[in-house]
Amino acid sequence: MDPIEDIKAKLNTPSNIAIITHRNPDGDAIGSSIALKLYLQKSAHKCDVILPSEYPSVFNYLPDLSEVSVFDLDRDRARHILKHADMIFCLDFNSLDRIDPLALEINESTAYKAMIDHHIDPEPFADWYMSDTESSSTCELVYRFIELMGDADQAISLDIATCIFTGIVTDTGSFKYATNPEVYRIASELKKKGVDDYQINDYIFNSWTGRQMSILGHALRNRLELIPEYKTGIISLTKADYHKYQIGRGDTEGLVNYILMIKGMEVAAFVREMPHGEIRLSLRSKGEISVQDLAHKHFGGGGHKNASGGSSKDSLADTIAKFKEVLPDFI
Ligand code: 5GP
Ligand code: MN
Repeated sequence: MDPIEDIKAKLNTPSNIAIITHRNPDGDAIGSSIALKLYLQKSAHKCDVILPSEYPSVFNYLPDLSEVSVFDLDRDRARHILKHADMIFCLDFNSLDRIDPLALEINESTAYKAMIDHHIDPEPFADWYMSDTESSSTCELVYRFIELMGDADQAISLDIATCIFTGIVTDTGSFKYATNPEVYRIASELKKKGVDDYQINDYIFNSWTGRQMSILGHALRNRLELIPEYKTGIISLTKADYHKYQIGRGDTEGLVNYILMIKGMEVAAFVREMPHGEIRLSLRSKGEISVQDLAHKHFGGGGHKNASGGSSKDSLADTIAKFKEVLPDFI
């Protein structure tokens, strides 16, 4: 049977549906989750969005955001939703370590699980998959899902369109990368629905605080190392930087991309020692260089060919040394 017919059949009876996305949710994670919720609610389902951790305030303009349940803030509420769910939609992640510590609850739940995602190598924990690594974003896939359900013309309200457009804009860096012909077609359809693309871009990109600008200034002036022979740049932030500049969640969003604005740079790494001690890596690349392979092989992570993340249990200095050591194998 056509996979969409499977899920259509499942969605025929009104259900309790939990929609869950990854930790440190970004525009695509939040946008796709709320868009799917608003869509499914139209068919008399009871839907709840669960975010494992808090969301950046730049997305406060999104409709219905105040209704989401944040596991870190209210574990009981999130557990209650999962306990009563007949279906769980997993959006914008494909491995359970991305929703830690919610993974346990998902594993234990007997609900029907559906994954909509665009990352490489999905783990086999779901019953139904819409997994496409060629897609710009999970929001693009949610649009296509609604379309396959036969509802694109009728069911996409301005609120849903705003959510979907947000994820497409954030995951493509305003249509700079990860695009495909569908992205522009869907963006055009959303614009026809009345999406205020200018306003959304303004909300997302012109919302910096002075403090965030100072962090960027510090990182670029004092913490950037260029390795021209490998066309690579590394920005590193220490635990002391986090304290001194009061760096919080979201304050370093997009920092890694500045490296690729330097002519000739093809690999960018942002390596940081988080306040609780963990070392996190954000990796970006251009063209055929796969930072996904690098993150997967050496830093227990993954993502996409040109945008991946990982972590390390070594010190900051040792992590950077290891990155430099393995780098030549991937260039
Ligand atoms: P970012 O650097 O913006 O945190 O993440 C870039 C991409 O890599 C995202 O698509 C994200 O899903 C993926 N990613 C980040 N960290 C991890 C990780 O620890 N494991 C896996 N599998 N993917 C990650
Ligand atoms: Mn995404």
